[in-house]
Amino acid sequence: MNKMSVKDVKDFKGKRVLVRCDFNVPMKDGTITDENRIIGALPTIQYLMEQGAKITLCSHMGKPHSIFSDEVKLNKKDKKKVDAGETTAEAIIEKAKKDEPKKLTLAPVAKRLNELLGGKVTFASDVVGPDAQKKVAACKEGECVLLENLRFHWEEEKKDLEFCKKLASYCDIYVNDAFGTAHRSHASTAAIVEYGLVKTAVCGFLIEKELTVMADSLEHPVHPFVAILGGAKVADKLNVISNLLEKCDTLIIGGGMAYTFLKAQGGSVGTSLVDDEKIDYCKEMIAKAQSMGKELLLPVDTVIAKEFPDPIDAPVDVKTVSSKEIPADMMGLDIGTQTRKLFAEKIANAKTVIWNGPMGVFENPTLAAGTIAVAQALADAKGATTIVGGGDSAAACTTLGFADRITHISTGGGASLELFEGKVLPGIACLNEKN
Ligand code: AMP
Repeated sequence: MNKMSVKDVKDFKGKRVLVRCDFNVPMKDGTITDENRIIGALPTIQYLMEQGAKITLCSHMGKPHSIFSDEVKLNKKDKKKVDAGETTAEAIIEKAKKDEPKKLTLAPVAKRLNELLGGKVTFASDVVGPDAQKKVAACKEGECVLLENLRFHWEEEKKDLEFCKKLASYCDIYVNDAFGTAHRSHASTAAIVEYGLVKTAVCGFLIEKELTVMADSLEHPVHPFVAILGGAKVADKLNVISNLLEKCDTLIIGGGMAYTFLKAQGGSVGTSLVDDEKIDYCKEMIAKAQSMGKELLLPVDTVIAKEFPDPIDAPVDVKTVSSKEIPADMMGLDIGTQTRKLFAEKIANAKTVIWNGPMGVFENPTLAAGTIAVAQALADAKGATTIVGGGDSAAACTTLGFADRITHISTGGGASLELFEGKVLPGIACLNEKN
């Protein structure tokens, strides 16, 4: 990695540092239900505290309305409802202003951080308002101020210049440690640097680790290199499939995505999830694999049911059939036992493995076995670099207790997929290069 990290900055003492974190943690009734993202941010924050920096932390939480902005903007979903006459813009905003300061506030994160960091964290109840300005100005060396949810301002996602200037006025040095939002080009993730408002812009330890493991493994994989993709739709992963096919030796495709490939091969896939518009694309990828001498592995057997379970974890009657002979009125919802074995063997013989996306409807215990089998195979892989690219697959590995047997579990699903696509992430591209 050629980007500067906090370790490359000579002197933080007395410097005002703005750290973009990813504190978008799951919450239920005001309680944090998974604090992994907070824990992941600690090494950078603790390092800056030890160095005597005056630290301003910022993050988004969820997808709120711009309730702190003078000009309020509606999102696409709201606009549709307003256009359909179901509600009015005023009613939407009034409700958001009432609910969101409670539901999507970062105050619980500040409280937890304060416990973890020995009482050195204060919370500002706004972002660029009087409370934030006062608290940032009063922040002493080795202390932190966490700003309220950045996305309470529409200006964050729209990269508003005046908003960026206000954020930049809080700091001499900018640190990006929010890998989970590094694929977004927003005010606090990239624009503040792109507009030339801060000269020293470096990454924190979390981004450094994500890049070192994932980017290096993609650029210089030890072979055999096996990539596994799952999840719902082919359309969401077009560039990932194509790019990985070029880099890996074996590309395994499972999950809902597999049925479009199976249909492209002439299989009968019943009522399984199929993206008919992408059949030609799948044919192209099958041909590409062949011409490059790459192995493209699809499920050989499939767990099927009459209907998609509703609710998703409802009991479901299943049986297993050949994945190209699914009866017309049945749908494939998980990979079968033979496929689990086949995929596990490939993983066991690999030296580099990356995985993104579940192998089936893992939210349902009857349909989770395929995803569990792949997670288990990664955990059991000996002498291989194993990487899980965030999202559902990361959650599966963590829940199953395999986290410490996997080389790297990414904190960013979307961001790691974009890395797998071969894209340069805006939140990383904007940072200073090492000399
Ligand atoms: P993604 O967001 O694309 O990674 O997709 C994750 C979702 O794919 C999960 O909610 C799974 O339930 C779903 N999924 C996995 N396999 C299937 C399948 N065979 N049919 C329908 N949905 C699936």
